[in-house]
Amino acid sequence: MITIRNLSKQYKNGEWALQHINLSIENGMFGLLGPNGAGKTTLMRILATLLHPTEGDVLLHGVPLTEPHRVRGMLGYLPQYFQVYPQLTAFEFLDYVGVMKGLDDKRKRKEEIEHLLEKVNLANKGKSKVKTFSGGMKQRLGIAQALLGSPRVLIVDEPTAGLDPEERVRFRNLLTQFSIDRTVLLSTHIVADIETSCRKLAVLNRGEVALTGSVHELGAYA
Ligand code: ADP
Ligand code: ADP
Repeated sequence: MITIRNLSKQYKNGEWALQHINLSIENGMFGLLGPNGAGKTTLMRILATLLHPTEGDVLLHGVPLTEPHRVRGMLGYLPQYFQVYPQLTAFEFLDYVGVMKGLDDKRKRKEEIEHLLEKVNLANKGKSKVKTFSGGMKQRLGIAQALLGSPRVLIVDEPTAGLDPEERVRFRNLLTQFSIDRTVLLSTHIVADIETSCRKLAVLNRGEVALTGSVHELGAYA
């Protein structure tokens, strides 16, 4: 559950990337649809506590973002243009992220990583170097790193942008599975991503929420 109240962001160059955003995002998969420049990445980076809002506040399951040490364990983030050092194996990369997230017990970390690799259909790829991975495999590894530590909120920024149509469908199905027991916020400029996988959506345009509702209600506009 994410509650966004009167959120605005002005960058140092004067640009208002977000203006008076109010959204209530419940469990399940929620789509954030909008063209390039709409403010999707800005919103997601604020939720991930990587950027400070200029005004307004955000609660994750009742915890304000102004308490980042409490929020970070609740949240997994897959940034747009997700990159991994190509010489690392998938396991090495996830192990590194796990350490960064404070998962200190080496054996438990290994168990969780193996479990996650299975869940993202990379079970036999743990020992493969990331440089051998396709775009779809890299994005699935991105989801695995976001899910390390079992966050209740998952934020994914334009994850299907570089994928071919078949990979895109597989990736959406995977996100749908992970949205059963958590809040997943998916940003995209591709209408089909939202139509087939999200129950609710908001349309963002020039930093403002232009529309919000169920996919069913907004179908005619999407
Ligand atoms: P903040 O106000 O959050 O500190 P800044 O204005 O300092 O953000 O910008 C952060 C970084 O983003 C800077 O390195 C800046 O060069 C870069 N940046 C500036 N304009 C844009 C833009 N239109 N799109 C993407 N990045 C930009
Ligand atoms: P989207 O993810 O929907 O493409 P962004 O959040 O990246 O939108 O950008 C929203 C607006 O803010 C755009 O006009 C963009 O140029 C501007 N912007 C993004 N990052 C920065 C930055 N660091 N500094 C100044 N302006 C930025």
